[in-house]
Amino acid sequence: MIRADLHIHTLFSNDSSIHPKTLVEQLLTHPYIDAVAITDHNTVKGYYKVRELASAYQDVTIIPGIEVSTVDGDLLLLGVAEVPPEPWTNVIDFTRSVGGIVVVAHPYREFGLGDLAKDYKVDAIEVLNGGSAPQFNVLAEELAKEMGLPGVAGSDAHRAEELWSVYTEIQASTDLDEVLKAIKTGLVRVGQAENSTRFKYKAHNI
Ligand SMILES: [Zn+2]
Repeated sequence: MIRADLHIHTLFSNDSSIHPKTLVEQLLTHPYIDAVAITDHNTVKGYYKVRELASAYQDVTIIPGIEVSTVDGDLLLLGVAEVPPEPWTNVIDFTRSVGGIVVVAHPYREFGLGDLAKDYKVDAIEVLNGGSAPQFNVLAEELAKEMGLPGVAGSDAHRAEELWSVYTEIQASTDLDEVLKAIKTGLVRVGQAENSTRFKYKAHNI
Protein backbone atom coordinates (compact mmCIF):
# COMPACT_ATOMS: atom_id res chain seq x y z
CA MET A 1 0.00 0.00 0.00
CA ILE A 2 1.19 3.50 -0.78
CA ARG A 3 -0.15 6.94 0.04
CA ALA A 4 -0.20 9.58 -2.65
CA ASP A 5 -1.04 13.24 -3.06
CA LEU A 6 -2.68 13.14 -6.49
CA HIS A 7 -3.10 16.85 -7.23
CA ILE A 8 -0.13 19.22 -6.94
CA HIS A 9 0.89 22.38 -8.78
CA THR A 10 4.50 23.53 -9.15
CA LEU A 11 5.63 26.99 -10.18
CA PHE A 12 5.21 25.84 -13.79
CA SER A 13 1.53 26.60 -13.13
CA ASN A 14 1.16 30.36 -13.30
CA ASP A 15 -0.81 30.45 -10.03
CA SER A 16 1.54 28.28 -7.93
CA SER A 17 4.71 29.15 -6.03
CA ILE A 18 5.85 25.60 -5.19
CA HIS A 19 9.43 25.04 -6.30
CA PRO A 20 10.04 21.50 -7.59
CA LYS A 21 13.08 21.24 -5.31
CA THR A 22 11.00 22.09 -2.23
CA LEU A 23 8.39 19.54 -3.26
CA VAL A 24 10.95 16.75 -3.68
CA GLU A 25 12.68 17.60 -0.39
CA GLN A 26 9.36 17.49 1.46
CA LEU A 27 8.34 14.26 -0.25
CA LEU A 28 11.61 12.52 0.66
CA THR A 29 11.27 13.45 4.32
CA HIS A 30 7.51 12.98 4.62
CA PRO A 31 6.56 10.33 7.19
CA TYR A 32 3.95 8.53 5.08
CA ILE A 33 3.50 9.96 1.59
CA ASP A 34 5.25 7.81 -1.04
CA ALA A 35 3.90 9.19 -4.29
CA VAL A 36 2.83 12.43 -5.94
CA ALA A 37 1.05 13.31 -9.14
CA ILE A 38 2.30 16.54 -10.67
CA THR A 39 -0.76 18.16 -12.20
CA ASP A 40 0.19 21.60 -13.44
CA HIS A 41 -2.30 23.64 -15.40
CA ASN A 42 -2.00 22.73 -19.07
CA THR A 43 1.73 21.89 -18.95
CA VAL A 44 3.94 18.92 -18.03
CA LYS A 45 7.17 20.91 -17.53
CA GLY A 46 6.87 20.71 -13.74
CA TYR A 47 6.51 16.93 -13.90
CA TYR A 48 9.77 16.55 -15.83
CA LYS A 49 11.61 18.82 -13.41
CA VAL A 50 10.32 16.92 -10.36
CA ARG A 51 11.09 13.58 -11.99
CA GLU A 52 14.64 14.69 -12.69
CA LEU A 53 15.17 15.89 -9.10
CA ALA A 54 13.71 12.69 -7.65
CA SER A 55 15.40 10.31 -10.10
CA ALA A 56 18.09 9.24 -7.63
CA TYR A 57 15.52 8.00 -5.12
CA GLN A 58 13.93 4.57 -5.57
CA ASP A 59 11.28 4.66 -2.88
CA VAL A 60 9.14 7.50 -4.19
CA THR A 61 6.87 7.52 -7.23
CA ILE A 62 6.36 10.58 -9.38
CA ILE A 63 3.14 10.17 -11.35
CA PRO A 64 3.01 12.19 -14.56
CA GLY A 65 -0.10 14.29 -14.88
CA ILE A 66 -1.70 17.46 -16.11
CA GLU A 67 -4.81 19.44 -15.14
CA VAL A 68 -6.50 20.46 -18.35
CA SER A 69 -9.05 23.24 -18.56
CA THR A 70 -11.79 21.89 -20.81
CA VAL A 71 -14.75 24.05 -21.80
CA ASP A 72 -16.89 22.31 -19.18
CA GLY A 73 -14.36 22.25 -16.34
CA ASP A 74 -11.08 20.84 -15.06
CA LEU A 75 -9.93 17.28 -15.62
CA LEU A 76 -6.89 15.63 -14.07
CA LEU A 77 -5.13 13.32 -16.48
CA LEU A 78 -2.87 10.90 -14.61
CA GLY A 79 -0.24 8.81 -16.35
CA VAL A 80 -0.04 11.44 -19.08
CA ALA A 81 3.42 12.96 -19.66
CA GLU A 82 2.63 15.23 -22.58
CA VAL A 83 0.21 18.03 -23.34
CA PRO A 84 -2.76 16.46 -25.16
CA PRO A 85 -3.28 17.65 -28.73
CA GLU A 86 -6.12 20.11 -29.22
CA PRO A 87 -9.06 20.20 -29.35
CA TRP A 88 -9.34 19.22 -25.72
CA THR A 89 -12.81 17.87 -26.29
CA ASN A 90 -10.90 14.64 -27.09
CA VAL A 91 -8.67 14.53 -24.00
CA ILE A 92 -10.33 11.43 -22.63
CA ASP A 93 -9.68 9.36 -25.75
CA PHE A 94 -6.14 10.68 -25.84
CA THR A 95 -5.54 9.79 -22.19
CA ARG A 96 -6.72 6.23 -22.75
CA SER A 97 -4.53 5.90 -25.85
CA VAL A 98 -1.43 6.61 -23.75
CA GLY A 99 -2.53 4.36 -20.86
CA GLY A 100 -3.57 7.14 -18.52
CA ILE A 101 -6.67 7.66 -16.40
CA VAL A 102 -9.09 10.58 -16.13
CA VAL A 103 -10.18 12.13 -12.84
CA VAL A 104 -12.81 14.85 -12.43
CA ALA A 105 -11.12 17.59 -10.37
CA HIS A 106 -13.14 19.31 -7.60
CA PRO A 107 -16.45 18.88 -9.49
CA TYR A 108 -18.48 21.36 -7.42
CA ARG A 109 -15.92 24.10 -6.97
CA GLU A 110 -15.08 26.90 -9.39
CA PHE A 111 -13.87 25.41 -12.71
CA GLY A 112 -15.43 22.10 -11.75
CA LEU A 113 -17.57 20.05 -14.14
CA GLY A 114 -20.46 19.83 -11.71
CA ASP A 115 -23.24 17.52 -12.86
CA LEU A 116 -21.84 17.62 -16.40
CA ALA A 117 -19.32 15.06 -15.13
CA LYS A 118 -22.07 12.47 -15.56
CA ASP A 119 -21.75 12.86 -19.33
CA TYR A 120 -18.01 12.15 -19.23
CA LYS A 121 -16.47 8.70 -19.40
CA VAL A 122 -14.05 9.21 -16.53
CA ASP A 123 -12.26 6.77 -14.24
CA ALA A 124 -12.52 8.48 -10.85
CA ILE A 125 -13.83 11.53 -9.01
CA GLU A 126 -11.75 13.77 -6.77
CA VAL A 127 -13.88 13.46 -3.64
CA LEU A 128 -11.44 15.13 -1.28
CA ASN A 129 -9.73 18.24 -2.61
CA GLY A 130 -7.51 20.08 -0.13
CA GLY A 131 -8.60 23.46 -1.46
CA SER A 132 -12.34 22.82 -1.51
CA ALA A 133 -14.75 23.64 1.28
CA PRO A 134 -16.15 20.53 3.03
CA GLN A 135 -19.63 20.81 1.54
CA PHE A 136 -18.20 20.67 -1.99
CA ASN A 137 -16.19 17.57 -1.12
CA VAL A 138 -19.34 15.95 0.25
CA LEU A 139 -21.17 16.68 -3.01
CA ALA A 140 -18.23 15.21 -4.93
CA GLU A 141 -18.41 12.07 -2.85
CA GLU A 142 -22.11 11.75 -3.59
CA LEU A 143 -21.37 12.16 -7.29
CA ALA A 144 -18.78 9.37 -7.16
CA LYS A 145 -21.29 7.07 -5.49
CA GLU A 146 -23.98 7.93 -8.00
CA MET A 147 -21.62 7.27 -10.92
CA GLY A 148 -20.21 4.14 -9.27
CA LEU A 149 -16.67 5.47 -9.53
CA PRO A 150 -13.69 5.42 -7.17
CA GLY A 151 -13.00 8.56 -5.14
CA VAL A 152 -9.50 10.00 -4.84
CA ALA A 153 -7.88 12.83 -2.90
CA GLY A 154 -5.33 15.52 -3.70
CA SER A 155 -4.16 18.62 -1.88
CA ASP A 156 -4.42 20.86 -4.97
CA ALA A 157 -1.51 22.68 -3.34
CA HIS A 158 -0.36 25.94 -4.88
CA ARG A 159 1.87 26.92 -1.92
CA ALA A 160 4.37 24.70 -0.12
CA GLU A 161 2.44 24.83 3.16
CA GLU A 162 -0.61 23.42 1.40
CA LEU A 163 1.15 20.20 0.35
CA TRP A 164 0.07 16.81 1.75
CA SER A 165 -3.12 18.11 3.42
CA VAL A 166 -4.99 15.07 2.09
CA TYR A 167 -3.92 11.79 0.58
CA THR A 168 -5.12 8.76 -1.35
CA GLU A 169 -4.27 5.33 0.00
CA ILE A 170 -3.67 3.02 -2.95
CA GLN A 171 -3.41 -0.76 -2.78
CA ALA A 172 -0.40 -0.94 -5.06
CA SER A 173 3.38 -0.97 -5.06
CA THR A 174 5.28 2.07 -6.28
CA ASP A 175 5.07 0.79 -9.87
CA LEU A 176 3.29 3.42 -11.97
CA ASP A 177 1.15 1.06 -14.06
CA GLU A 178 0.08 -0.77 -10.94
CA VAL A 179 -0.83 2.53 -9.27
CA LEU A 180 -2.98 3.66 -12.20
CA LYS A 181 -4.69 0.28 -12.44
CA ALA A 182 -5.42 0.26 -8.70
CA ILE A 183 -7.03 3.70 -8.87
CA LYS A 184 -9.11 2.66 -11.86
CA THR A 185 -10.33 -0.49 -10.16
CA GLY A 186 -11.18 1.33 -6.95
CA LEU A 187 -8.45 -0.05 -4.68
CA VAL A 188 -8.32 3.33 -2.98
CA ARG A 189 -9.52 5.24 0.04
CA VAL A 190 -9.00 8.85 0.95
CA GLY A 191 -7.72 10.47 4.12
CA GLN A 192 -6.79 13.81 5.57
CA ALA A 193 -3.62 14.75 7.45
CA GLU A 194 -4.38 15.25 11.13
CA ASN A 195 -2.43 18.49 11.25
CA SER A 196 -3.97 19.87 8.08
CA THR A 197 -4.51 23.60 8.42
CA ARG A 198 -6.78 23.81 5.40
CA PHE A 199 -10.47 23.09 5.35
CA LYS A 200 -11.32 20.61 8.05
CA TYR A 201 -13.19 17.73 6.57
CA LYS A 202 -15.05 15.31 8.71
CA ALA A 203 -14.22 12.00 7.11
CA HIS A 204 -17.16 9.69 6.79
CA ASN A 205 -17.72 6.48 4.93
CA ILE A 206 -14.40 6.52 3.09
ZN1 LIG B 1 -5.52 22.13 -9.43
